Amino acid sequence: MKLFLILILLSCSIFGQIKFDDYFLSKTLRVDYFHSGNKTEEWMTYSKLIEEPYWGGSRINLVDTLNLGNFMVKVFDATSGTLIYSRGFSSLFQEWQTTDEAKKVNKTFPESVIIPFPKNKIKLQIDGRDDKNNFVKIWEYDIDPTSYFISKEMKHKFPNMKIHYSGDPAVNYDIVLLAEGYTNDEMEDFIESCNFYGEALFKYEPFKEYKDKINIWAVLSPSKESGSDIPADSVWVNTIMNSSYYTFNSERYVMVEDFQGVRDIAANAPYDQIYILANNDKYGGGAIYNFYSITAIKNAAGEKVFIHELGHGLVGLADEYVDKYTYNEYYKLDVEPWEPNITTLVNFDEKWKYLLDEDVPVPTPNEERYKSRLGVFEGGGYVAKGVYRPTFDSIMNTLASGKFNLPSLLAIKKVLDFYSK
Ligand SMILES: [Zn+2]
Repeated sequence: MKLFLILILLSCSIFGQIKFDDYFLSKTLRVDYFHSGNKTEEWMTYSKLIEEPYWGGSRINLVDTLNLGNFMVKVFDATSGTLIYSRGFSSLFQEWQTTDEAKKVNKTFPESVIIPFPKNKIKLQIDGRDDKNNFVKIWEYDIDPTSYFISKEMKHKFPNMKIHYSGDPAVNYDIVLLAEGYTNDEMEDFIESCNFYGEALFKYEPFKEYKDKINIWAVLSPSKESGSDIPADSVWVNTIMNSSYYTFNSERYVMVEDFQGVRDIAANAPYDQIYILANNDKYGGGAIYNFYSITAIKNAAGEKVFIHELGHGLVGLADEYVDKYTYNEYYKLDVEPWEPNITTLVNFDEKWKYLLDEDVPVPTPNEERYKSRLGVFEGGGYVAKGVYRPTFDSIMNTLASGKFNLPSLLAIKKVLDFYSK
């Protein structure tokens, strides 16, 4: 009887899995839309469809089982209604919703999702999280992949380079580095930085362990001028992605608002993860889960910022520090956040509780004897009360620590395993 059950389960897992070649071609369909709203409302409007040449994603793990991100793009086969692809992600719009500005005005952000290019008609759906953090539908759009309105025009054709190559993008995790604020004359300097940061990545765990499962690509995307905008200093430069400091009026928060413009450049290489290298020495960076990461790489702290931001971009890790000024109620205290490295203790059982030693109290006092232990320390997710972090310090808290804590490390490994199968 047991054997019979095992056989049934085995056959379900083999035959239940979506086969890439049944539904998809080996290139990308990009769906551009506008994400608009204010503090309490949001809506998405269709913009355009674009065919892009590479598909860097997995061909095995098509349906997302990670449950990370504030949004989930889902692709259903139009005839059978079967879910054939999904991916979690977060967005700059959703962060903006927690700022003071969002209480007063409506705003629109250009956004974009990519999916493997479908063979047949599909329904694309984007879900967001409700008050209980469950996914609910925000928007859907029917797509006929034979439509002649799907643009085959690449806005920018730039050369790509392999900085670190482990093999086939389908079975490796592909990070693409994009040049921002580098002029044509500075492209050698960009390549040098790509090599430097490419090597730096593998000094940190778990990336060191996964060195032969990661590809790093560079796209040589020149700007007319060097640097990034610094509005408070009246510095305005003409760069290819128009990155800017003072995002949400936070000086060090360098971001790009036009995500579609970022995708235009990333399309020049296969990728799972976009990383923008900004040619600045002023301290700064930013990152959003499965959206993009950006670091001002000429700053002395650039290497650690680079790793910290990848924690956000790759797995959606939360910041473990307190910041009273930028956001309002970023995490709801009455629900368990989906981020793997913080808890509100609403459902701590699903977080790192199983990793705790029995003698460590929950919550864990900020006392010397616990400073090197895994615990549940109050303060994190931008607030001092009600959100807890796993260790007294980690690279998601201060750069000085220089490493991820255990729950973050395990979460990153889970993502790298998922994407490199
Ligand atoms: Zn951060």
